[in-house]
Amino acid sequence: MSGYALGTDAPEKDLLSRCVHCGFCLPTCPTYAVLGVEMDSPRGRIKLMQTVWDGRVEVASAGFALHIDQCLDCRACETACPSGVEYGKVVEAARAQLEVARHRGPAARLVRAFAFRVLLPRPSFLALFARVSVLAKRLGGATILRLVGARRLADLLALVPSTASSGALPATFPAIGARRGRVALFSGCVMRAAFADTNAATARVLARNGIEVVVPEEQTCCGALQAHAGARGDSRDLARRNIAALEALDVDAFIVNAAGCGAHLKGYGWLLKDDPAWSKRAEAFAARVKDASEALVSFGLVARPGTLRARAAYDDPCHLIHGQRISEQPRELLRAIPGLELVPLTEADMCCGSAGTYNVSQPELSRALLDRKIGHVLASGANMLITANPGCQMQLAAGVRAAGARVTVMHLMDVLDQAYEAAAG
Ligand code: SF4
Ligand code: SF4
Repeated sequence: MSGYALGTDAPEKDLLSRCVHCGFCLPTCPTYAVLGVEMDSPRGRIKLMQTVWDGRVEVASAGFALHIDQCLDCRACETACPSGVEYGKVVEAARAQLEVARHRGPAARLVRAFAFRVLLPRPSFLALFARVSVLAKRLGGATILRLVGARRLADLLALVPSTASSGALPATFPAIGARRGRVALFSGCVMRAAFADTNAATARVLARNGIEVVVPEEQTCCGALQAHAGARGDSRDLARRNIAALEALDVDAFIVNAAGCGAHLKGYGWLLKDDPAWSKRAEAFAARVKDASEALVSFGLVARPGTLRARAAYDDPCHLIHGQRISEQPRELLRAIPGLELVPLTEADMCCGSAGTYNVSQPELSRALLDRKIGHVLASGANMLITANPGCQMQLAAGVRAAGARVTVMHLMDVLDQAYEAAAG
């Protein structure tokens, strides 16, 4: 197949032509930093996408697949680009085209369909999967897998957290004190299946600041992992389900505590732009999505957190800093905690190598980026490492464990919740 298949999911030529090949984005690109190869830089990948448009390279060619697959979709290049290239949109479209063109065996197709259509959209399945994975890890599953030569699965199991919390939250967390707002918590798929305690912490922190939180049961996975992996049709189906379930709620905002989900939910307008029945609804929905830190700073903290003694480093999730341009709000919240010393972290804005399913699909590159990140964490002298995305949290915790470092990895909302607990106790 030469050139892109026409239709909804081809990278838009106008977006590609915004690139003036200046190279300003190159120093910010993690894969270029590790590999030093032009075709693994944003500029090189854009050039490659243009040559496919012109019909000079086949979508299914090994070179195109290699360099597009090796991209983290971290969007650091978007932040750096002076010409406004919306790289995330074009690379996701390129991946969708790759999925149409490339040959996958029946087993690989089955695994993708199971993960994207069965596991992620069903919280009870995913919670069961998380519990079994945690148990397998505790029973030494990684060692057994390595012994039988299943290194990839062993690496995957190493990423699983030592504990997972799941279960439904109360339908409402009433505002404490005078009610200043009402929001709905987007509880996510991985968050609901493995980090339910963090969801509860998020709701408590908001409630302590006078914001009533409702947790609608009728919501599903946001579809971010599907879109990043080229399954945009599946992602659109989930987007329609979420919009239909949540749009009529009488709330000020939909609150998200997972950066990858937040960036994707804010992009629903783009995802459904070619669907006349849904495009306007999607845009209206996306305009109401807010990261938890963004909402807390915009409402303002009225409850004073208690003291937490820690030397903390904050690592920016890519889809918060680059996907949503949110970097100051989390730091502002952390600075509000007495006793918490916020230390600088070199390359805090560079990807840790988690990137959705990247640590599964590109384990060597992911490991190289994680080692680089953990080196900076150790050099910072921090004993606490804070992030705001479940994938980053699992990846960073695995890196800290592998390094044998005495660093606690936590979600921003858990840190705030602990500080409020300290104030109450
Ligand atoms: S993506 Fe932007 S920064 Fe990078 S080469 Fe193109 S115009 Fe320059
Ligand atoms: S999304 Fe990240 S990895 Fe991909 S080209 Fe841009 S900076 Fe590089």
